Amino acid sequence: MMVSANVEILPDTILIGIGASPGIAIARSYLLNRARVAGIERRILPDEVDAEIVNFLAAVARSKAQLLEVKEHAADQHAEHLYIIDTHLLILEDQLLLTATINLIRDELINAEGALGRTLRRLRQVFESIGDEYLRERSSDIDSVGDRLMRNLLGEVRDNLEGLSGQAIVVAHDLSPADTMQLDRGKVIGFVTDVGGRTSHTAILARSLAIPAVVGLETVSTQVASGVPIIIDGTTGTVIINPSPATFREYLARKQQYDYLEKELEEYRGLSAETRDGHQIALRGNVERNDEIVAARAQGIEGIGLFRTELLFLNGNEPPDEETQYLAYRAAAEIMAPHPVTIRTLDVGGDKFVPELNLLDEVNPAMGLRAVRFSLREGALFRTQLRAILRASAHGRVRVMFPMISGVAEIRACRHLLDKVRQELAAEGVAMAGQVPVGIMVETPAAVLIAELMAKEVDFFSVGTNDLIQYCLAVDRGNEHVAYLFEPLHPAVLRALAQVCRAAHAAGIEVSICGEMAGEQLYALVLLGLGFTELSMNPLAIPRIKRLVRQTTLAEARELVETLLRLPTAAEVVDALEGVMSRRFPKIFGVVPGLNP
Ligand code: PEP
Ligand code: MG
Repeated sequence: MMVSANVEILPDTILIGIGASPGIAIARSYLLNRARVAGIERRILPDEVDAEIVNFLAAVARSKAQLLEVKEHAADQHAEHLYIIDTHLLILEDQLLLTATINLIRDELINAEGALGRTLRRLRQVFESIGDEYLRERSSDIDSVGDRLMRNLLGEVRDNLEGLSGQAIVVAHDLSPADTMQLDRGKVIGFVTDVGGRTSHTAILARSLAIPAVVGLETVSTQVASGVPIIIDGTTGTVIINPSPATFREYLARKQQYDYLEKELEEYRGLSAETRDGHQIALRGNVERNDEIVAARAQGIEGIGLFRTELLFLNGNEPPDEETQYLAYRAAAEIMAPHPVTIRTLDVGGDKFVPELNLLDEVNPAMGLRAVRFSLREGALFRTQLRAILRASAHGRVRVMFPMISGVAEIRACRHLLDKVRQELAAEGVAMAGQVPVGIMVETPAAVLIAELMAKEVDFFSVGTNDLIQYCLAVDRGNEHVAYLFEPLHPAVLRALAQVCRAAHAAGIEVSICGEMAGEQLYALVLLGLGFTELSMNPLAIPRIKRLVRQTTLAEARELVETLLRLPTAAEVVDALEGVMSRRFPKIFGVVPGLNP
């Protein structure tokens, strides 16, 4: 569909959104009509009710058939992502969506599109109130399915990119995961959308397809017509419409450099993460679902350092039973064998909201009944999870990890329950591994201060820097007003990390780091120098961190940390570190000249 620009776009018009998938793409735009359709609500007569319900159910059936077709076509290329389409098919069967809409038609005497519109708005409100970003982003799945349903109800045909002749960057209000799976990668070399976040399924797909993408641009689909030259930088979230010749040349150079470095990364996949002076570093993955583990294996991953189990509890009904959990943990252990899988027990509360668990309405949830505190209070729920984990241990190298520990008494309470559960299972004749290492997340200042006491009680530490920084610096990790104070390189954080490592080494236990810091290239040498020999991160970050590990020595990293530990402010640490990293690894950290203002 060609749309003529009705506004003259100035050269180098810059829009900033959210970088959803890294890389640079330069091409002409192709505007895809994906404005969300709204149904018009209208009152109906009682004798029209049945016909409206039939229309609605026919739209549900059509939507299902379309998604099944997408699934069939995507089966080869996107095998590991088909679960997204399955999720959408499940939403189409969700009673909340179906029954609520049908009831509205019947009870309120409104037409099907009006009833569907109301149901979708209500569902969206529920999701928007969720604190956790990943879970909140699941509302985009409801939007995708809702939009498809509404279009089918209204008999609207979706623009399907058939008019695309050469290579282009797709510009759309929104793209559903199904749209993204159907993109012809020979032609679509990038996309930008008005809505969306980094953890939406569309963004996840774009990353695994290695298509640069910028989302959350708010108005790009109303500002750009088809056929306009456009540059997108999915790493920084920058979009440049109508670039000047100078900008074009600069981005072409950046693109060549980026593509070269990406190609180079391929070589690291099969290599071990060994420093130049022969120290082996274990690079592990943070995952929430088993299909992520399948994908992660391709990144040269040496086990799962953090299996977040909260998602399992978000199934829309009751908490998952023992069998469901056992099967999930067992599959993880089997997929990852012979490498370890570190299963973290339920970490709800704080910013992780799970509607199914009826959490208390607390004034200060970050310091409330969250994580292991919640599990210890909800004994039955905790036992079920521990039983499932121990049963799964018979099928691979399972480790168990407790979140948000703030004292030795909590560790002992957890271990006591774990021992009891083990005895119960043994009495039932259930197979388990003889040894299931027990560890804790170090993410409270208390855990740091008494790390040497904690180290005597467990087999390993894993530092959760996301929370540790929050509690150490008293900065809410999700509050944008104090985000400037969330400083991973604050001298207090560096000292805390050093202390945890010292305590773990003195006790001879393993110590890893599994917060977001572990996957950031800038911090790689700092963490090695501090003494971390295991880093757990988003699997996609592994090749980049491995490249740095293989190009440095532990001696160099230690020397760097010694210098940084002497500096009094985070800003000075950042300056010094950036200086060193851009001199040592100019291709990766080299300063690329910014755009002219
Ligand atoms: C952390 O706090 O650093 C961590 C890894 O756990 P989560 O982000 O799930 O709280
Ligand atoms: Mg945490």
